[in-house]
Amino acid sequence: MLISETSNAASSKAEGTGRAIPAITRVSPFASARTVEQFVAVVGPPAVGKSTVTGTLADRFDVRVFRLREFAREFRSRPAADQRLFDTRDPLGWLTEETVFLLLQAAFVRGQFPARDLVVLENFPGSLTQLLLLTAIADQLRAPLMLIELTAADYLVAARARTRRVCPTCEPDLHGDSHRPARRAARDPDRCDSCGGGLLPRRGDESQRFAARLARFRRRIPAIRRAATALHLPYRAVDATGDPDSCLQGVTTALAATDPLALLFASWREHL
Ligand SMILES: [Zn+2]
Repeated sequence: MLISETSNAASSKAEGTGRAIPAITRVSPFASARTVEQFVAVVGPPAVGKSTVTGTLADRFDVRVFRLREFAREFRSRPAADQRLFDTRDPLGWLTEETVFLLLQAAFVRGQFPARDLVVLENFPGSLTQLLLLTAIADQLRAPLMLIELTAADYLVAARARTRRVCPTCEPDLHGDSHRPARRAARDPDRCDSCGGGLLPRRGDESQRFAARLARFRRRIPAIRRAATALHLPYRAVDATGDPDSCLQGVTTALAATDPLALLFASWREHL
């Protein structure tokens, strides 16, 4: 398996802990039945439109969208959860690679994420190590993995970050960190189109924090692209410079261009 040949190189390159990647364990015959048939990882710079496109895929096509942050939060809230797993010294609050691996295993190998045939991972993997961990899980489940990168220039995503808003009413968050872009009301752009409540800037879009997130993405994506090539993972870049509909069209076209999803997405595209 490729992961065992590449994991040493990956851990030496990993930022943060410098600790080794946990050993890959095979699925026990008593593990829950596999449900994931295909993983599609959607990555891109902050504010490029990942949440919007994956949210639309979920709404229109009923695919499941895995967001590590949300799964981690749910996992952490369980009574038996080891809180030490969630300690992090990362300035952007990223979890350690060990914890990420445990979460992926819990989600997909132990079936704790309500997966369907196709799982879209939003904003994951964020590093070469995370790509290798995900590849290991996909390999374990014998589910193909493809990578879609949404692309847009820095000035454009920075401008989007300055103007986008979240709705703390529609997406309440205990930590005051709502994430999903809200639609502005036509009459009052400071209010939510769905609930009429006041909108807020997203915490991670604050200018210094946004700059740090963007810089981290730009620093890490070349290694992710190279590894995708080395691992023979289907990879497509989708231009996200235009409006959300054209980005969605680009994503569905990218998916359709890749077997074995071609037929599925060809049929979906007729409904767009
Ligand atoms: Zn709202």
